[in-house]
Amino acid sequence: MEASLGIQMQEPTAFSTRGRFLADGSLKHEQNFKLPGVKKDIQKLYEAVPQLGNVFKIKDKIGEGTFSSVYLATTQLKVGPEEKIALKHLIPTSHPVRIAAELQCLTVAGGQDNVMGVKYCFRKNDHVVIAMPYLEHESFLDILNSLSFQEVREYMFNLFKALKRIHQFGIVHRDVKPSNFLYNRRLRKYALVDFGLAQGTHDTKIELLKFVQSEAQQESCSQNKSYVITGNKISLSSPAAPKELDQQPTTKTAVKRPYTSAQIQIKQGKDGKLMKQSKTVDLLSRKLATKKKAISTKVMNSSVMRKTASSCPASLTCDCYATDKVCSICLSRRQQVAPRAGTPGFRAPEVLTKCPNQTTAIDMWSAGVIFLSLLSGRYPFYKASDDLTALAQIMTIRGSRETIQAAKTFGKSILCSKEVPAQDLRKLCEKLRGVNSNTPKLTSDIQELTSQDPTFSEKMDHKGAHLIQTPKAQHSGNSLCKGDSNGCGGNLDESPTNLEGWDEVPDAAYDLLDKLLDLNPASRITAEEALLHPFFKDMGL
Ligand code: ADP
Ligand code: MG
Repeated sequence: MEASLGIQMQEPTAFSTRGRFLADGSLKHEQNFKLPGVKKDIQKLYEAVPQLGNVFKIKDKIGEGTFSSVYLATTQLKVGPEEKIALKHLIPTSHPVRIAAELQCLTVAGGQDNVMGVKYCFRKNDHVVIAMPYLEHESFLDILNSLSFQEVREYMFNLFKALKRIHQFGIVHRDVKPSNFLYNRRLRKYALVDFGLAQGTHDTKIELLKFVQSEAQQESCSQNKSYVITGNKISLSSPAAPKELDQQPTTKTAVKRPYTSAQIQIKQGKDGKLMKQSKTVDLLSRKLATKKKAISTKVMNSSVMRKTASSCPASLTCDCYATDKVCSICLSRRQQVAPRAGTPGFRAPEVLTKCPNQTTAIDMWSAGVIFLSLLSGRYPFYKASDDLTALAQIMTIRGSRETIQAAKTFGKSILCSKEVPAQDLRKLCEKLRGVNSNTPKLTSDIQELTSQDPTFSEKMDHKGAHLIQTPKAQHSGNSLCKGDSNGCGGNLDESPTNLEGWDEVPDAAYDLLDKLLDLNPASRITAEEALLHPFFKDMGL
């Protein structure tokens, strides 16, 4: 993998001129300003992968996530123009198959239709660096409330173009969110990045995704298999005949990408037994101790209700059905195996309920959540620390009965202590956006809007600043959120708020939103269909 992969590169673009931490914790590039820590990290990277120094001058750190650090570099070649490159340094504990699969997604599906391509890949021992064309991009939060309606249309159209492309290759991205869809507003360029959590469909064209297992599957299978990477090839071996073709330590690293442990929430019971994840979440006691209203949710396999759960004798009768407790029989049931990667606020209901058969439809749900942010002017729209809270938040928008009904179609039973109605999407977005209102919304207005809504009430408690500002107020620089490290970064963008088109959002927009936020993955709109939706009429493919 030390040699160039020789992949076509997109046009590099100009440097960003400002820098700050983004809502998701990543660091945006700031020209001519380097923190001492950043300088040290750059030095360490040169030391870890010395060959980088022959080709690049690393200028700055532009992103820092759990699984990687991304740097801006320029090429130092003797011939040709200087190019700007993004160097993604993967954490050395990443699973080799995971790394190779991420790279293969970029090389096979990337480089066109708004999917990021790759230029080179470097490896020294367990350090892997993917070199990609650099795309200067905006912070979603900075521009959210200054986008014209037409720009929102273009943004969504280009996102669907990228999703159509990767879905055609049988790639489920699993982490579609604004920080993984780069947008250069000036150049109207877009790029879907970060295939670090991607998985393959059953008929995926990305060979290595066939070896990428869900986190729960990895847990149980990783002891039995070993992976060997040689050059651009990968082979899978059983413990009976272990292969040691590659001398690089990376191949021997047993440590998996740490999302496995980070995302699986298995608790030890008092007696040392594993506790079932499908525990009762009482939002009243956990989140809203002072509030009267609450939704208590519980998710079970439909089989649990039929008392035939796999690890539990069929004869044992569960006695917690329709109660807000989890009985000892349910506590002893085996953990449901299903992929749950991604960011809670963007997770589809079938992901949140751990449905094992997940498809490309989960990316379309995430795209729907982005669209919801764009139409309502609120980001992040859902902010939940755990899956059941996220599910309760979805219910407050899409309705509890509807969510329960849809979950049945994919074999899940959700118990909910309180019925909440589905909201009219247009009314909701217009209220939150504050259409036709030139004055900042008062806290009391928002409180009135959200008082029937426990999720929003929760947000009021913890993220009050997030809900009490209208787009206009945020833009005027009065934002209480400015610089807030809790994911509310304020609005530092100088570009003017563009109200154009927002006074007459067509029904087609909400129709598309409704089809994206379809609780049932089987009927949810696909990327290909979305591109043909009347919302995009007049837009050429
Ligand atoms: P992670 O797995 O750590 O989330 P990503 O691939 O999403 O890594 O990259 C993290 C951040 O780095 C992105 O949100 C983006 O800001 C920046 N970034 C990644 N790739 C590029 C690129 N090709 N051009 C410009 N910036 C990039
Ligand atoms: Mg990312």
